[in-house]
Amino acid sequence: MLDLILRNCTLTDGRTGIDIGIEADRIVAVMPNLVATAGETIEAGGQLVTAPFVDAHFHMDSTLSYGLPRINQSGTLLEGIALWGELKPFLTQELLVERALAYCDWAVAKGLLAIRSHVDVCDPRLLAVDALLHVRDKVKPYLDLQLVAFPQDGLLRAPGGLANLIRALDKGVDVVGGIPHFERTMSEGAESVRILCELAAERGLRVDMHCDESDDPMSRHIETLAFHAQRLGMQGRVTGSHLTSMHSMDNYYVSKLIPLMHEAGVAAIANPLINITLQGRHDSYPKRRGMTRVPEL
Ligand SMILES: [Zn+2]
Repeated sequence: MLDLILRNCTLTDGRTGIDIGIEADRIVAVMPNLVATAGETIEAGGQLVTAPFVDAHFHMDSTLSYGLPRINQSGTLLEGIALWGELKPFLTQELLVERALAYCDWAVAKGLLAIRSHVDVCDPRLLAVDALLHVRDKVKPYLDLQLVAFPQDGLLRAPGGLANLIRALDKGVDVVGGIPHFERTMSEGAESVRILCELAAERGLRVDMHCDESDDPMSRHIETLAFHAQRLGMQGRVTGSHLTSMHSMDNYYVSKLIPLMHEAGVAAIANPLINITLQGRHDSYPKRRGMTRVPEL
């Protein structure tokens, strides 16, 4: 007697008419015409049955806030960041939790069961951190939510940025984030990458940094991220998110960069939907889409 049988499923490898038997939260049978009884049987009606979807890059503290306090007129990332700054003084923990939980319901209903969300740590009240830690606990039975400490206004550029990020990690945020291309200078950006990687190494945490989210071909913080990942022995625990400048970089330079990322075990998270919308806003024609180099990576 099994706990659950899904009958007449289509699988991602193309097999149809498959029954799936589940016992004690484990899949124990995948076959046509499974002869068994179960506490519950669901007729899938030939629909697709897959592993859950994973969203590797999200910002749950700003979810469902479109139009608050106003709509982004230029469509640029910089105006988006400014808008978030305008909204921050009006955020409350109750509203953050309410919107995040509403989003989680939508996510689960669409088969999305694992989310890595960045959470802004630059507000010294750490309202969003407390809210999303609460949400992480609340959804734990059905959604695997991982939080990244993200210094939206710059680790070194924002007053108290580093201290607030450390406080967020002390509260239990899972991953160390960063935004080197938003620091005041290239060298400050590189310094932020060093500080954050060392912090993560000391604490045995992963790194997932917004890196080179710009159309500037000279924004090369991914090189510094790979350098420190390799230097600190963090292979397999470091990720660069967006990497949109790679779209605009010199091809020769990229032919050196990608092997360095590989050696350092640095992963890349592309964000096609958001970057196709945001990038190339300062271009006349041709307008760049800012997609990182997915096939080569
Ligand atoms: Zn992001």
